[in-house]
Amino acid sequence: MPRLLFADDRGRVYDHPDLLAAVRSGDDLLPPPERAVPLPEGATLTMLPGRRPVGIDPAGGGLSVLREVRVGRRTIVPHAVGATLPPGWTRTFLPAAARPPLATVAATPILPQWAYTAAAFGPAGPVAWALHTDRRGHWNPRAHSTPALPGLVRATLAANGNPIYRQLARCALEWRCFTAQNTFTLRDEGAIPSSSGCNAACIGCLSDQEEGMPPASHERIRRAPSAEEMAEVALRHLERAKGRVMVSFGQGCEGEPLTRAREIERAIRLVRARTSRGSIHANTNGSLPEALGRLVDAGLDSVRISTNSASPDLYAAYYRPSGYGLADVVRAIGVAKERGAYVALNLLTFPGATDREGEVERLCDLVARTRVDQVQTRPLAIDPDVYLEVARGRGAGGPALGIRALVAALKAARPGLVVGNFSRARAERGRPARAARRPAPREPGRPARRGEAG
Ligand code: SF4
Repeated sequence: MPRLLFADDRGRVYDHPDLLAAVRSGDDLLPPPERAVPLPEGATLTMLPGRRPVGIDPAGGGLSVLREVRVGRRTIVPHAVGATLPPGWTRTFLPAAARPPLATVAATPILPQWAYTAAAFGPAGPVAWALHTDRRGHWNPRAHSTPALPGLVRATLAANGNPIYRQLARCALEWRCFTAQNTFTLRDEGAIPSSSGCNAACIGCLSDQEEGMPPASHERIRRAPSAEEMAEVALRHLERAKGRVMVSFGQGCEGEPLTRAREIERAIRLVRARTSRGSIHANTNGSLPEALGRLVDAGLDSVRISTNSASPDLYAAYYRPSGYGLADVVRAIGVAKERGAYVALNLLTFPGATDREGEVERLCDLVARTRVDQVQTRPLAIDPDVYLEVARGRGAGGPALGIRALVAALKAARPGLVVGNFSRARAERGRPARAARRPAPREPGRPARRGEAG
């Protein structure tokens, strides 16, 4: 069994000589029910300030909170350690950590928006509890943030006054957004930020955070671009890029693209009047079904619609939507499918909430009913304690079946369903998935095990 990791105040990570690692699912701390994988390339160990590491005592097998530990000649108060994963991986467990009983904001700050994942020290080095859900190599961290990138950004800015490139330059260089970088390196999926406002107020929004929360990890585009400006960026990418060529509206540095549907529709029509090359895609909250339908009619051929749950109360508590609800999102999926778009569900996953038995059943029903083509399982990037406050007492209940069992159940609910983390270019879409005859997440009466493979 892998050993417990802990960190000192300066973020230096150590493995404990005796204690074994525990993991967390929702509020439960438990011995790992499945094997960890070697820490993937591009993953990073990260400390959880103010949270005490929780391990397993190898002698008795009980849980043990590590409140103090000797490091050389010093005794330190340790912090819990987790991992953040590269694209293509889905977390299966949270780091096991305990907040002190008298936690203060200064000593135990709310954690920034990362997808904290259980990690430990195995016989050959650090390990994490995660599933490799998309093996496509084109999002490899090694192929991004290259030494050539700053020069390409400078050259593009010098040759083109379009303000979208100024925003994308910050995204590419400061926030290391791979989609923004692709717009300069002219390959695969390029970004077109389109909106500065949103009709939701997600607790874990990457581009807008309330006072008292950690600062948003991206800064939103200040001025929403015109249809002509968006069309210019899209055309350059679609005509010249290599690889899995697509452009996408709806980035981490913006609000909700459907709030600018009229301008995006015009931009798509301008683009498709000039080229039929590549794919036009949108990442959206799916709040405005009719607006989405108009975009598909104009030439949007792929859409990814986000949700954290198929339960209206849990959806509303996290998204805090204004003027729409989960029923509209479900209708938007139907409209996009009917009009012929490739539709992916962007499922924000959280061990111990998304994989509760009742939630799994509702998600399987949603996937089978709406006939989505793909589910992108994306670990929700948020302080685990903040999300549990949102999820506690909401959504459908039941025991947590595990993220592996959730993935397996989704695949069983809709045979041929693509489960992965990246949007598919046109040539990769293959045959559409079929509805299962019986959208059952598991055999009746047989409890799914945590470790069931997908
Ligand atoms: S829908 Fe997107 S942009 Fe809007 S609040 Fe949620 S995460 Fe932020």
